[in-house]
Amino acid sequence: MHDVLIIGAGPAGLSAARWCDELGLDTLVLEQSEEVGGQLLSIHNPIENYLGIHTDNGCELRDRFAEQIKDCDFDLWTNAEIASVDLKAKRLVLRSGEELKSIAIIIATGLRRRKLCIPGEDEFTGRGMIASSGDRQAFAGKDVCVVGGGDAAAENALLFAEVCPTVTVVHRGKKLRARREFTEQLHTNHCITVFPESVVHRIIGREHIEAVEIERSGAIKPFQMAVQGVIVRIGFQPNTELFGDQLEKDDGKYLVTNARHETSVANIFAIGDVANPAAPTISGAVGAGATAAKTIASRLKA
Ligand SMILES: Cc1cc2nc3c(=O)[nH]c(=O)nc-3n(C[C@H](O)[C@H](O)[C@H](O)COP(=O)(O)OP(=O)(O)OC[C@H]3O[C@@H](n4cnc5c(N)ncnc54)[C@H](O)[C@@H]3O)c2cc1C
Repeated sequence: MHDVLIIGAGPAGLSAARWCDELGLDTLVLEQSEEVGGQLLSIHNPIENYLGIHTDNGCELRDRFAEQIKDCDFDLWTNAEIASVDLKAKRLVLRSGEELKSIAIIIATGLRRRKLCIPGEDEFTGRGMIASSGDRQAFAGKDVCVVGGGDAAAENALLFAEVCPTVTVVHRGKKLRARREFTEQLHTNHCITVFPESVVHRIIGREHIEAVEIERSGAIKPFQMAVQGVIVRIGFQPNTELFGDQLEKDDGKYLVTNARHETSVANIFAIGDVANPAAPTISGAVGAGATAAKTIASRLKA
């Protein structure tokens, strides 16, 4: 029996754990991945907007967080796969069969990248599907398709155009949604072609990706374009499936909370991006962790 179980060890979960420790709460953090950090691990650019710390990338910020919590007393289990939760009973069961109970639970499960859910997408994982712009040297000299029309898609197209002969951006909308500085660069870069009002239907290949099938608005039939790499940047979705209909969610499946980060079930808190569709940031996640921990501590004292 713990005072607090925290699910997720991104900035929100780590901040909550740090505060729970300071407030004398017996805390266990459960992280499904091998390492802590959440989305920080996929930030390859400098982080200049987290007050007080400037880092060259997200891994460096994660390392700073890890350094600060290394002497804390809370327990942290990585590779912790949760099989089921009973939020009213404050009980979790891990895939290993272990059962955990607590007085309060803090959900800090963040977001994951939205998938296209088309044939070939899962099949070519590690065989042409590009997880991160950090992998771009492996695609040097190859033709790449970027799916999406926002900032992340545009930024990736520009990064890959530094090493790839052609980069094709395929997006649904009439216009790119990316900020102007990116779109201007996209339209003037001779390696980059933009297909608006277009959809990728299928990713094709044998051992590795060889082509994508694209349908363009107004075209009679889909066509195939030869590429060796595909990167999908069509937004994020909250990691809330585990909680089923036990908690109130909004239309986008984000958890609904009040100003203390309390959910619709007593003593269940949700912090960070999983409950913040409006403005997901590291600062917001870290601040929410502090608020939730302080609320729990004051309730336990009362
Ligand atoms: C490319 C990129 C650039 C960004 N740049 C900036 C920036 O410059 N400034 C800024 O403020 N923000 C930036 N962000 C956003 C910032 O990274 C997020 O707002 C922040 O990481 C949110 O923290 P979080 O802890 O809420 O969620 P996450 O970072 O998503 O962490 C959630 C954690 O929960 C774990 N988890 C999920 N489900 C389970 C489960 N069932 N059981 C156990 N663990 C689970 C995940 O594995 C993950 O470790 C950027 C994000 C990206 C992707």
